[in-house]
Formats: sequence, structure tokens, C-alpha cells
Amino acid sequence: MQVICLDLEGVLVPEVWLRLAEETGIDALRATTRDISDYDALMQQRLGLLREHGLNLQSILAVIDRMQPLPGAKAFLDELREHFQVIILSDTFYEFAQPLMAKLAWPTLLCHRLDISPEGHLANYLLRQTDAKRKSVMALQQLNYRVLAAGDSYNDTTMLAAADAGFLFRAPENVVTEFPQFPVTSDYETLHDWFLEAAENSKHDIFR
Ligand SMILES: [Mg+2]
Repeated sequence: MQVICLDLEGVLVPEVWLRLAEETGIDALRATTRDISDYDALMQQRLGLLREHGLNLQSILAVIDRMQPLPGAKAFLDELREHFQVIILSDTFYEFAQPLMAKLAWPTLLCHRLDISPEGHLANYLLRQTDAKRKSVMALQQLNYRVLAAGDSYNDTTMLAAADAGFLFRAPENVVTEFPQFPVTSDYETLHDWFLEAAENSKHDIFR
């Protein structure tokens, strides 16, 4: 039995923080874990910037509401779900992801949460657990599922390594160079074929 685990941002939908930076004009919101490797420091900077500019959840959701899945993402996901159980493993927050999940017909999403004040401000973020993507893959394997995974960035590499087959999708050059063990593609058709192949190959593996 196989489960497919997909990253969300960069694979199925655009990067939310980048869009927020573009739409609000707050350039510092462009910072990612590539610029600030300490995730907590990065998140505290983001939350501080939002507070400073008076952006509450409602105004952020107004931006996210206007976002669309990447072209072809919905069809890719729909087709994949005909063959496999698909779980999206993301480091985003349920509150942010909601409008985009609606546009993807509500696939299963495991991610984190925000702590929203009664006035609708982002007080803090609540990590479900650290290294959640890798731990989710391991938990599924404990349930005797074989896990096939795809993601685009550094925060996916431990998930890809833990998975029985891991692929990079539209990954930046530095990630591709640093992790040559993961095949990389930029089109949904190829990724879909690779998943089918990886699933097919496992049928010949007596240990699976
Ligand atoms: Mg991503």
C-alpha cells in the first residue's frame, strides 16, 4: 500500500509569504529559511512585521483568497488521488491554507496552526511538532504504508530522505546541487509518471 506525500507551496500553490510581500509592499516578508536559517527567528520577524504594519488575519486572508493553485496543480492532484491516497505535508498554517485547500477540493493537509488573538491579530505560531514532514512519513511507514514524496525545498529534504522514493519538483538550483540523490523534474506529467513507476516497482519487492 502506498501513500503519496506532497509539499504544498512551490509544488501545488505559490509561496504565500512571497505573495504577501508583493501585495503588501513589505519587502522584508520575502525572507525565507534560506536567508534566516533559524525558523523561529524567521517566524518571529514575520509576525513582528505583520504587527508593525497592522495586518491581521482578515487582511492576510484577503490576499490569500486572491491566490490560485499553480497552473495544472488541481488536475495533477485530482488524477493522483484516483490512484493513491495523497497527504499534503506542509510547514504552512491551517488558517493560511484554508482558501487554497478549497480551490484544491480539500485534500488532506497536515501542517501547523496560528495563535490568533480575539482581535484577529497573529499572536504567535504553534508548531504541531518539529521536523513534522519527516515524522509524518515515518508514522505512515509505521502503519505499513510505503511513502512516495515530492517537494521543492530544503524543508522537504528530510521528508524525501525518509520516504521510500523521494523527488524534487521545481527545486531551486542550490537544492538540486546539494541533494543530487533526488531526481528532479519541473512538470506534473513526469512527476505523475515517476510516482506510478515507483509504485509499480514496489510490487516486485517482496519486502514491501
Ligand atoms: Mg515548498
